Amino acid sequence: MKEIEQYDFAIIGAGAAGLQLALALLNDSFFADQSLVIFDADLKDENDKTWCFWEKGKGQWDELIRHSWSQTTFADSKELLKLNTSPYHYKMLRSLDFYNFAKSKIEQSGRVKWITENVQTTRESTEGIEISVQGKTFKAGHCFDSRLPETYFKDRESHKVAQHFKGQFLKFDEPVFDQQNFTMMDYRLIYKNTTSFMYILPVNSREALFEYTFFSPDLVDESVYLDQIRSYVTEYFKNHKFEVTEEEDGIIPMTNFPFHKYHSKHLTKIGTAGGWVRASTGYSFKNAGGNVKKIIENLKKRQHPSTGVFKKKYHFFDTLLLNVLQYENHLGPAFFGQLYRNNRLETIFRFLDGESDILDDLKIVTSVNPWPFLKAIYRELIG
Ligand SMILES: Cc1cc2nc3c(=O)[nH]c(=O)nc-3n(C[C@H](O)[C@H](O)[C@H](O)COP(=O)(O)OP(=O)(O)OC[C@H]3O[C@@H](n4cnc5c(N)ncnc54)[C@H](O)[C@@H]3O)c2cc1C
Repeated sequence: MKEIEQYDFAIIGAGAAGLQLALALLNDSFFADQSLVIFDADLKDENDKTWCFWEKGKGQWDELIRHSWSQTTFADSKELLKLNTSPYHYKMLRSLDFYNFAKSKIEQSGRVKWITENVQTTRESTEGIEISVQGKTFKAGHCFDSRLPETYFKDRESHKVAQHFKGQFLKFDEPVFDQQNFTMMDYRLIYKNTTSFMYILPVNSREALFEYTFFSPDLVDESVYLDQIRSYVTEYFKNHKFEVTEEEDGIIPMTNFPFHKYHSKHLTKIGTAGGWVRASTGYSFKNAGGNVKKIIENLKKRQHPSTGVFKKKYHFFDTLLLNVLQYENHLGPAFFGQLYRNNRLETIFRFLDGESDILDDLKIVTSVNPWPFLKAIYRELIG
């Protein structure tokens, strides 16, 4: 007979979302007698991502933070803006530090089963979810699932822009950076009329992560990112020697795909698969923290865990920006220039955190050229 293991909760995917959720369940005495099984195809023993996010004051991950900044630069062909991030700090967390921290807490708890396997199928029954892995069946009352729905890959209706980038940690032979200042977007070296920019995170006076980043529907050859980094360094760090110490790359979906429609009675999509990546920016780490809090509250109130996670207002705003980026990608640099020049950073951060009020929304909407967005509304309406 087939062996069946029964759990209260299952989490598929021990990434940014799955691990934040697992830790929140373990930290809350309400769930002290509830069992949890976690599945991940990967061992989570590599530093595969550098997560950054802005946060006011002290935060939950402060002891793991590698570096934080209190100033940022936005640059384009018109000017170089230096902006104070106060009352926020921009913080950098290396994914391996987070994985190690989470794995040790999970192990210490002694009440989580961790299975390093790829989950292919789940089946919903009246009492919960059945997860079959390597001929074994696991049952869970509720499953939190980080896998992208299969229809996402076939879908042709939604906007599919991507934040795609390649980054290199460059170590210079002498001090060249202000460690308090990171570069959010530098549009002085645009690639072929696209929305493409340099993002720079100095971790000390000699070393920084340089990421050449696109917000665009089309990917480019790997050599393009590297050539852009080389050209940028040649132009703005003339005569300084450096070595490459580490590399990172990524493709983050920026999409209005309706992920929120893929929850079911006993299954909640989380992380990228739950639509937790802010479609207009590609940021999601901090967003995941907020959504996990909401899930915990919902579980305690015996509501569906996804209740209140999807925010229609921001879905609408993001859809319009994605429409512009998809059909008129060359307009991105001007849009971001107007956004950063005409708003306080605090207002922008509140808007991107999904915490803006109507006044903030009005400020943001009226700070940029409306024509591309009116055209985007028209394109949305005529389908
Ligand atoms: C290189 C990179 C840098 C980024 N930087 C930032 C940043 O600075 N700030 C920010 O806010 N966001 C950033 N993001 C975006 C976003 O925060 C991350 O993609 C984040 O990791 C998404 O969380 P997640 O849990 O959905 O996915 P992941 O963290 O990728 O976790 C998903 C997990 O599910 C597992 N999995 C998938 N399929 C299966 C399966 N079938 N069976 C078992 N396990 C499975 C995977 O192995 C993985 O461990 C970055 C993304 C990338 C790729």
